[in-house]
Amino acid sequence: MAALIGKQAIVIGAGLGGLAAAGAISDYFERVIVFERDPLPSIAQTRPGTPQSPHTHALLGGGKLALESLFPGFTMALTKAGAVSYRAGLDLLAELPGFDPFPQRDVGWDAYSMSRPLIEYVVRQQLERRRNIEFRDRCRVEEIVMTDGTGGSVDAVHWRTAAVLVKSWPRTSSLTAPVVAL
Ligand SMILES: Cc1cc2nc3c(=O)[nH]c(=O)nc-3n(C[C@H](O)[C@H](O)[C@H](O)COP(=O)(O)OP(=O)(O)OC[C@H]3O[C@@H](n4cnc5c(N)ncnc54)[C@H](O)[C@@H]3O)c2cc1C
Repeated sequence: MAALIGKQAIVIGAGLGGLAAAGAISDYFERVIVFERDPLPSIAQTRPGTPQSPHTHALLGGGKLALESLFPGFTMALTKAGAVSYRAGLDLLAELPGFDPFPQRDVGWDAYSMSRPLIEYVVRQQLERRRNIEFRDRCRVEEIVMTDGTGGSVDAVHWRTAAVLVKSWPRTSSLTAPVVAL
């Protein structure tokens, strides 16, 4: 069991950066709250907050290893959700304008073909299984209130919901440094 750093941490944004950050810190805080301004879809789907998501994405070897180490079983879950594995360098013919096609050779690892929303969805599912992680979607963070103004610790975050109601959470000084991923 990892030594706790603090009671609560805040992650802003449930994109891949925010999800990976939440996974990395979840063993070190009693509770991790992820704020996301979009409604989070219950299927692999594009959303306005990640306008790049319909574009072609590739999950590179380093990214796969990092996600697997943060979320053991990630690769298997990705395949189960529909990702198709292929042999990097061998099963894919890469061409760039003005160059000959890259030579096909086995570079020694498997890559995966899937949409970016599928990666995000699978990672989010892995996090949702962790009891100390809470997702608050439809919450746009508007302000991070620092205790001493230096960025050392956080008193509160202010957010806005779809109902245009500004709330404040929490008004205590028990938070330690937040993780902010925009
Ligand atoms: C065209 C294109 C192709 C790309 N291809 C690849 C690729 O093949 N492989 C690769 O690894 N990378 C690729 N990238 C880069 C990759 O998409 C980004 O590096 C990655 O999405 C960054 O993740 P992120 O979570 O930091 O940010 P984002 O994906 O931008 O997520 C930010 C999240 O924060 C939320 N948010 C923002 N402000 C607030 C707020 N105030 N309150 C609450 N929530 C908020 C947003 O709604 C969003 O969900 C590509 C990028 C583009 C544009």
